[in-house]
Amino acid sequence: MTKTVSTQASPAAISMGPLSLKPDGFYVIAGPCSIESPAQFKETAQFVKEFGASILRGGVFKMRTNPDSFQGVGLEALSWIRDIKNELRMPLMSEITDPRQLPAMLESLDAFQVGSRNMYNYELLKDLGKQNKPVLLKRGFSALIDEWTKAAQYIVQGGNQSVMLCERGIRTFETKMRNTLDLASVAYLKAHESYPIIVDPSHGTGAPELIAPMACAAIAAGANGIMVEVHPEPSRALSDGFQALNFEAFKNLMLQIKPFVEAAGKTLVTHV
Ligand code: PEP
Ligand code: MN
Repeated sequence: MTKTVSTQASPAAISMGPLSLKPDGFYVIAGPCSIESPAQFKETAQFVKEFGASILRGGVFKMRTNPDSFQGVGLEALSWIRDIKNELRMPLMSEITDPRQLPAMLESLDAFQVGSRNMYNYELLKDLGKQNKPVLLKRGFSALIDEWTKAAQYIVQGGNQSVMLCERGIRTFETKMRNTLDLASVAYLKAHESYPIIVDPSHGTGAPELIAPMACAAIAAGANGIMVEVHPEPSRALSDGFQALNFEAFKNLMLQIKPFVEAAGKTLVTHV
């Protein structure tokens, strides 16, 4: 197999708010599945910053399978997060679900997340290709690696080279886990593409006890970072509480990944 030579994103070029990503850096993106209130987001953001996360996550617009499930706070949450991220001086990433959200999100966010359900939304990808903020493109849950990298090319060819790919698990016959986390895709992409790769063991397993081992395995496979969901009180979360790490579990995760990050020759980048 040969290394694909195409219009590729350069890892060194990615800047997210105050943070410039380095090829040998390792980045922990952490925060709640959904931003529920200013207090919940601030408490979580402060905690994950203190224990080594460098980028915040938090959903404002949610793509839920069930229309009766919580759909996210929406626009109102963008005003809360602006203040909190500025106070903490941390970049924030959040999912864009519709191109109509672009103007408001551009004002408040440092990076866009494209969710698994929207990986094939080429009009959204083309719009993001015209922006100058990084995009984390999650793998569609039934997407081939080829379809995923071609989706990334929609963004790159629009002029936005700051694309990161996120392996978040795919749907297989296995039902013990929420998804099957395809870590071979990480090793494959590291060998054949130059995008930074983030692994999401939260959605990839749907099980808090599996997050640390899969995070360590992701580092061994060559990931440049992980994305994990953290909630002050997972049992009360409005979305994905069953897979959220509580604060103690996040702290332990950070301790557990440390030797793996070092063994991979990378440096854990904490907040700037
Ligand atoms: C999320 O990150 O909260 C999310 C909805 O992820 P995915 O698009 O991978 O399902
Ligand atoms: Mn989630």
